Amino acid sequence: MSKSKRILAYRRLNDQQLDQLRENYHVDYFGKLESPDDPAFREALGEAHGLIGAGVKITPELLDAAPHLEAIASISVGVDSYPVEELTRRGILLCNTPDVLTETTADTGFSLIMASARRVVELAEYVKRGDWKASIGPDLFGSDVHGKTLGMVGFGRIGQAIARRGALGFGMKVLYSNASPKPEIERELGARRCEFDELLKTSDFVCTIVPLTDETRRMIGAREFKLMKESAIFINLARGQVVDEAAMIEALKSAEIRAAGLDVFEQEPLPADSPLPQMANVVALPHIGSATQETRTAMAQRAVDNILAALDGKRPLSPFNVEAWGDRLD
Ligand code: NAP
Repeated sequence: MSKSKRILAYRRLNDQQLDQLRENYHVDYFGKLESPDDPAFREALGEAHGLIGAGVKITPELLDAAPHLEAIASISVGVDSYPVEELTRRGILLCNTPDVLTETTADTGFSLIMASARRVVELAEYVKRGDWKASIGPDLFGSDVHGKTLGMVGFGRIGQAIARRGALGFGMKVLYSNASPKPEIERELGARRCEFDELLKTSDFVCTIVPLTDETRRMIGAREFKLMKESAIFINLARGQVVDEAAMIEALKSAEIRAAGLDVFEQEPLPADSPLPQMANVVALPHIGSATQETRTAMAQRAVDNILAALDGKRPLSPFNVEAWGDRLD
């Protein structure tokens, strides 16, 4: 095959993955892209038939600059950085990386549950500061995780994997609110689907893991925090925009809820003036849901396999908008 098509890669790939792409395609590689306004990136975009990457908001304006584009392989499961309808309209196939990150992201979710409930970060800082002079008193006690009620807002792949950890590992009662019922996992875990408000009122841990869409944007705001128990711990592993961050900060400051464990934020990286990192009842992580060596390598590999299959006219493992290519994938 002559190398007539070009792939633009804008996230770090390992040498083996780059070699795999270069076997049949010309590759423009930006392992550490600072900005999509970089003139060299723009030039490569103008020639690209395939994109592989993450962390860049793909706008219709960027698509206008990419007249040959056939397919995009995102190194993420979430597709909120892409104008999906616009891609479909233009006949551009979008692929994502479900499954390979499910268990790792669920581990991150559960570590936020544990760290927030048992005040792990706050108390580790206390030891580091040299404040541990005597046994701690009730003012620094945490709360139990085992046996509590875990309310999952979103019960897809990752939500179910978190619930499995809670139910089977920690004897937690699982409630969920989700677009559709999940009878199989209800049976497996004894989980129960309930109304959103009931979940908010009765859960000890409220954990959001839905995709960011028009429907889920700011689905947790002042009203929802008011419905939660005063002892509730809120966990956000989905996207920052699923929550009204100002309302969450207010709920944490006024003790409407006890604590929050957060992997995602309205603005990332967190702006310097955000109060969240300084709040004792907040565990804030730098969006590390899937960030292990093994999982990030597997995600990049899935994206490489997806883009190679797509540009070769074969059905990729995980296409997101199959309708973009009509009959081409059947
Ligand atoms: P998934 O399997 O598609 O699960 C998403 C679930 O949300 C589905 O069960 C879906 O319902 C449900 N849902 C969608 N809209 C809803 C709504 N309006 N109300 C209630 N439920 C709704 O996806 P996943 O693999 O679990 O990933 C979920 C999201 O997690 C991703 O889109 C991404 O944004 C985020 N994520 C974050 C990280 C991180 O680093 N923090 C890592 C990975 C993923 P149905 O089953 O009925 O469709």
